[in-house]
Amino acid sequence: MGFVARASAGAGQLVDIHGDNMAETEQQLKQQLVQCIRMLEQADIIDYNGHASIRVGDDRMYINIGTCQRSLLTVADICTIDMEGNVIEGNGKPPLEFHLHAGIYRARPDVKAVVHAHPKWSTFLTMVGKSYAPVYAQGTLVYPLPMLDSPNSINNKGMADRLAATLADRPAAIMKSHGAVLVGKSIVEAFVLANYLEENAYRQYMALQIGKPYCFNDHEIAMCREKLWNDVLFKRTWDHFSAKLK
Ligand SMILES: [Zn+2]
Repeated sequence: MGFVARASAGAGQLVDIHGDNMAETEQQLKQQLVQCIRMLEQADIIDYNGHASIRVGDDRMYINIGTCQRSLLTVADICTIDMEGNVIEGNGKPPLEFHLHAGIYRARPDVKAVVHAHPKWSTFLTMVGKSYAPVYAQGTLVYPLPMLDSPNSINNKGMADRLAATLADRPAAIMKSHGAVLVGKSIVEAFVLANYLEENAYRQYMALQIGKPYCFNDHEIAMCREKLWNDVLFKRTWDHFSAKLK
């Protein structure tokens, strides 16, 4: 178990090379994406906008349709598109910012999932020119956090390429007075990082109200990364939110 190969039959169908059914069938990946978006909505990270995707092969992705109710999402709200935004399968159109996902997938072959949201606390910091600071252990995982110096929607290829260049090889980027983007080798990772980013920004914002927050030094950041960048802990964080999902 554990080694996953792409089946030649059926786009996006992942199979275990030993022939067992793996968790990552098409339907299960869509279900994971639905769960991610609903948990982000319940955590107040995604609102009536915001989207997440899972890469399918080199040139396709699952993504929520633009008009869906994030809090009531089901797999019927997930469409399959190519990198130009053409709908391959599904009932509805992708969000206008699908370019954001396509641009990152083009630039980053290692990325298998993308989350984009307009979370309050991390965006507040960008509105007044406050840099994201590592003030909370889990928040160090996305530090340093590059910022796209534009509030414009990522609704064309030019902006998408600009965002991908800003992100470079990092797991997260912030967009000035707009939102955040998180990437991962799985949707679990991208989801968890979105929570860590927003929680750190919240703590930084609140601490700034009463003083100058302590920022972790390089050694402390390195220790946090070593201990906390861990699939078991990522899964635990996912499970924490999953258990609370209504
Ligand atoms: Zn946006």
